[in-house]
Amino acid sequence: MDLGLRGARVLVTAASRGLGAATARQFSREGAIVVISSRNLESLQDTASSIVEETGNAVFTQACDVTDFTQVERLVKNSADMVGGLDIIVTNAGGPPAGNFDAFDMDVWQSSTQLTLLSAVALIKHSLPYLKKSTRAAILTITSISAKQPVDNLILSNTLRPAVIGLTKSLSLELGQDNIRVNSILPGITDTERIQDLAKARAEINNLPVEDVQASMSDGIPLGRIGSPEEFANVAVMMCSPAGGFINGVALPVDGGWIRATL
Ligand code: NAP
Repeated sequence: MDLGLRGARVLVTAASRGLGAATARQFSREGAIVVISSRNLESLQDTASSIVEETGNAVFTQACDVTDFTQVERLVKNSADMVGGLDIIVTNAGGPPAGNFDAFDMDVWQSSTQLTLLSAVALIKHSLPYLKKSTRAAILTITSISAKQPVDNLILSNTLRPAVIGLTKSLSLELGQDNIRVNSILPGITDTERIQDLAKARAEINNLPVEDVQASMSDGIPLGRIGSPEEFANVAVMMCSPAGGFINGVALPVDGGWIRATL
């Protein structure tokens, strides 16, 4: 199926690795012109080279810490300058720290709000003037299953991810008149570098073989396994594409069925 993404101008943040990088790669496979961004320019350039080598389509890079809103403004402007406008943005960032309520003082609450919620607000705010000029505009926020069902030991994520869904849904109502679709994906446990690092750390702390910890990560997932970044990226790219042109205001779990809610 042709998703209608040939030549689409796409910005994906936090895309040097993991879900962001897989999403950027899939956009490029579909013929989009992609700008990828994260804090570390060197790893971004490695990722960009690897995507270009596979797809032959242009991939641009721009370093940006999404918690710094001046950098975000510059990122959006430079991206639009580099690729001649913007059709699609995917807001992504690193996850907030793990822990329960007692673990965090107000500074961490503030920095996590900046990372998880306000980074998306800033990216969308600065991108809107460009998206309004596009004929295939879409915004996708990458959140987490924690938005729908709290995850143990993740108080910051459990609190802030639902706020991003509130933002996404509200914007889907406001921006429909500009023909801009706004959706979110709630990834479940997906086999990225972050999850591999987490498994290694848990294995060390609990003195267990890393394979046992990796296997336990599938607990509670009806499919009995964790997801792959490609499975996430396929859905992300389809939702943003003209082929998904009537999908708007949706918060879609890609979690192998982990969330227990009926709706
Ligand atoms: P990952 O493999 O650790 O990748 C994180 C990416 O974010 C990297 O490219 C990193 O690059 C970038 N990044 C981190 N902090 C940043 C910042 N302040 N500004 C700009 N870029 C930043 O993580 P992932 O597994 O792909 O997860 C992506 C998001 O989905 C996270 O928010 C995570 O919490 C969420 N999520 C993941 C899963 C999962 O199972 N993988 C499940 C639910 C939710 P630099 O270091 O170069 O900045």
